[in-house]
Parts: sequence; C-alpha cells; structure tokens
Amino acid sequence: MERNSGGEPSTRCDHHDSHRHRVPIAIGTGALLAGALGYIGFTNPHDPQSVYPQCPFKMLTGWNCPFCGGLRMMYDLLHGDLPASINDNLFALLGIPLLVGCVLMRRHQDRTVLPFGAVLTIVAVTVAWTVLRNLPGFPLIPTVLGG
Ligand SMILES: [Zn+2]
Repeated sequence: MERNSGGEPSTRCDHHDSHRHRVPIAIGTGALLAGALGYIGFTNPHDPQSVYPQCPFKMLTGWNCPFCGGLRMMYDLLHGDLPASINDNLFALLGIPLLVGCVLMRRHQDRTVLPFGAVLTIVAVTVAWTVLRNLPGFPLIPTVLGG
C-alpha cells in the first residue's frame, strides 16, 4: 500500500484498486454481450424451432409483454433490416439505447443514475406501451416464421 508524506496509508491505492477491477469487468461484460449478440445473430429467433425460452408473460396471458419481440428486433437489426426491427419491438429499439445513453451520461456527470422521476416515467411508458401493443389492430406485431 502506498503511503503519503506523513507516513499514513494513502487512500489513493484503494481508488487505484477500484479502477484496476473495472478493466476485467468491462472485458467480461463486453465478451458476454458479444457472445449473446453472436448467438442472436446466428440463431434466428423468428424460427419457432430455434432454441429460445418462451416469454412467461405471453404464456400466462396470451399478451405481448413490453419486451416480446426484443430478440427478433435485435436479430433484424444485426442483419440490417430496420423496418423489421421496428415491427418487432419499437419500444426496445428506441428505449434501450436512450436509457443506456442517459445512464452513462448521468454517471459520467456524477449525478444520480436513475432519479425517482425517471423510474416513474419508465414504468408509466412501459405500461402504456404494453397496453397499446395489445390493443386489437395495433400494426406492429413481432413476426414468427410460419406462424
Ligand atoms: Zn414477452
């Protein structure tokens, strides 16, 4: 451990340690994300024979949850098909990058990452999207091959 000029243990070492752990965590997170995106990119979630878990909300209620179609949206995005990804889940397509951007920006500014008002807004928009997408005649329906 480092010592300051007075011979006391320096807190700089602890600070340095926390930064030292960030790199392997960032590499691990990046590898996990790349692996997940690789799996989604090569295993078509539109195909009912593909190996993906069923949505428990959809199984129980028959309705699309706010994230139903999210994997299909990502598959379409990875294959450069923006119109299909909009059709699969517009909420996730717009909401996830917006949320990640806001969190990273606020974290960079040393502000509260998700203030209470933001959490309330996210919950309200998520509920509104869930109701809207399950109304009869709503045009954006996640596609399933042969389904
Ligand atoms: Zn779902």
